[in-house]
Amino acid sequence: RAKQNGKNGISFYEPHYQTEFNQRFIIHNALNNVLKNDSFRLFYQPIFCAKNGKLLGFEALIRWPEAEVFYTPDVFIPVAEQSKLIDGIGQWVIETAMNQLALWHQQFDANLTMSINISPVQLQNERLLSECQRALDANNVSASKIILEITETALIKDNSMVTHSLRVLSKYGFKIALDDFGMGFSSVAHLMDYPIDIVKLDKSMQATTQVSDKRLRVFEALALMLKTLDFIVVAEGVETESQMSLCQKFELDRLQGYLLGMPMDATKTDVFLAQQYQI
Ligand code: C2E
Ligand code: MG
Ligand code: MG
Ligand code: MG
Repeated sequence: RAKQNGKNGISFYEPHYQTEFNQRFIIHNALNNVLKNDSFRLFYQPIFCAKNGKLLGFEALIRWPEAEVFYTPDVFIPVAEQSKLIDGIGQWVIETAMNQLALWHQQFDANLTMSINISPVQLQNERLLSECQRALDANNVSASKIILEITETALIKDNSMVTHSLRVLSKYGFKIALDDFGMGFSSVAHLMDYPIDIVKLDKSMQATTQVSDKRLRVFEALALMLKTLDFIVVAEGVETESQMSLCQKFELDRLQGYLLGMPMDATKTDVFLAQQYQI
């Protein structure tokens, strides 16, 4: 609360705001160092075919190992977005994920896909297009094996740069996934106005299916609608057997969640892949 003792009613002292600002400043500087020292890591969570259980690929999820307990990506990515650090971090993610996929293509299976989260801020920077193309060329992977995950917040402000970026990326052959669908005000128009191939149902939808019959039917109707519109539909946050059976009953295409596989560092993922392919 602002103190009301200024001559003109303007307050210069707002402790809560100060703390938050300092906190952000500290995180920003720390992130800058982590990036410079190459200390971020990617974890990889497997994604499976809902029909036959086959491994299809992975989603790359960034980690800040030294501060993992306090700073999950949900906390530090927004700070990086506000300070434009996200461009450098995002570029590192793209290069690292594609490099890793190239290795797994050679060692295990050239059909494996890699899903990469792209911040709305990155989509507003034209450099993203050349960065993605360059990372493909450097690692000799096909764009068709790369899924770029974007959130609806990127689409809400009718931004011509975002529209342009998505069209070009789609033309290059990248697959575009709309992440966290069903969480905010999920506009059906967005699904048709942008070149979207895949829709990921937000993990909160999994939980609500257990809550009431009505919510269950919303889930079913949404799944049916997305299938009718020919999207590949992915369930994220699948944690229980009963959630998995529901996803299969509603004919979702792909499954991701703790029940099927946790996000793992590269070394653990290597072991996991060796088991999958019995190498
Ligand atoms: P997201 O893209 O929706 O990723 C899914 C999140 O759900 C991940 O959290 C994952 O660890 C978690 N998750 C997976 N399975 C389950 C489950 O069964 N139950 C529950 N409760 N959670 C599950 P994480 O890794 O903490 O990432 C959080 C968010 O941070 C991501 O949400 C994404 O929006 C953002 N993020 C992560 N990595 C990156 C990145 O490299 N770049 C950008 N721009 N954003 C990232
Ligand atoms: Mg994602
Ligand atoms: Mg998601
Ligand atoms: Mg999310």
